[in-house]
Formats: sequence, structure tokens, C-alpha cells
Amino acid sequence: MAKCYLCQKDNIPFMGGFTMNGIPGKICNTCREEYLKIASSKSDGKYFSDILNSTKNHPATDTLIKIIQDANGEINKEIDSLPVSTTDFLDGYSIIEYKNVVTGISVFGTAIFHEFEAKLTDSLGLTSLSAETKISAAKTAALYQLKRDAYLQSCNAVIGVSMNFAPLNGSMIGVLASGTAVVTSKNAEQ
Ligand SMILES: [Zn+2]
Repeated sequence: MAKCYLCQKDNIPFMGGFTMNGIPGKICNTCREEYLKIASSKSDGKYFSDILNSTKNHPATDTLIKIIQDANGEINKEIDSLPVSTTDFLDGYSIIEYKNVVTGISVFGTAIFHEFEAKLTDSLGLTSLSAETKISAAKTAALYQLKRDAYLQSCNAVIGVSMNFAPLNGSMIGVLASGTAVVTSKNAEQ
């Protein structure tokens, strides 16, 4: 038996083990399967973070960290691509199950509104690009949280999404996104 590069267990049979792109040593079948799950976005990398957390001075630390980051990157992409709709349906999909209301909140300072007003006055009604960029980033952040909330409840879409802006105190504005998390299936192509 030889040692697996990732889990460090003596579980690679003679002439066995797997070589994978991006991993400098031979790995066992369990690690290979976990690695493939990450490649197909079916893992958050917990298997590998557990290995890293339970092994002191792991010789493959750099490789493990990279794998874990990749896993989370894939999940972020998956969350980001969750479809959302402001209506009660989603074109091309059937809703199989309605789950909870999901929300996302982001907060930003009103300094940008002073800037916004100033630019409005200065440029006779032309809107401030930088303020727009900040508001748009706040909306994106709130929507991302909403989608992540749905994703964590094993949903794959959010319907009835609305966005609200609310002053929180003198200097902060909250962006609240809310909707209903649903499980959908793609309709067969006509
Ligand atoms: Zn292994």
C-alpha cells in the first residue's frame, strides 16, 4: 500500500492510485471521487477541508486549499445562476414545490446620496454613474443572499421577487430583496 497524497492514508494498492490534473501526487479512489464531485459542482469541498483541519502540517496544504477554493467558487457560480422572477412563474419551468420566503439584505451609507444630489445639480439632471454603480452593487448583493438562502434550502429558483429600499437610520440605507423559494423542473422542449 502507498500513501494517498491528499488524505495521507495508506490506502493505495500496489500499481494503483489515480493521477489527476492539478494534483501533484497519486490519490486514492475516495479522494478521486470527492475531487470529481467538485469538478461537477456537487460538493462544497467539506471532505477536503476536514482533511486539512484534522492533519497538522499537511504536506499537500497548498493543493488542498486550492481545491477547497475551487469548490466554493463553483458553488458561488451555481448560486449566482439561480433564476429569479418578479412574477409567480418562471418561463420554461414547472414549479414542483413551494418553500419558504427567502430574503437578502444589504446596507450602504447615504454618503452616496449626497454625491448623487451633487452630481444631479452639477450636471443638470444627468445621473451619477458612481452612485448608480453602488446602488446596483447593493442590489446584486441582496439578490445574491436571497439566492443563497434558496440554494441552502435545496431550491433551484426564486419567484415573486421584490426589492425595497428602506432608510435604517440617518446615514444607512437597506436594500431588501424577498421572494418565494421554489423547486422547479425544466419543461420539455416543444
Ligand atoms: Zn485519499
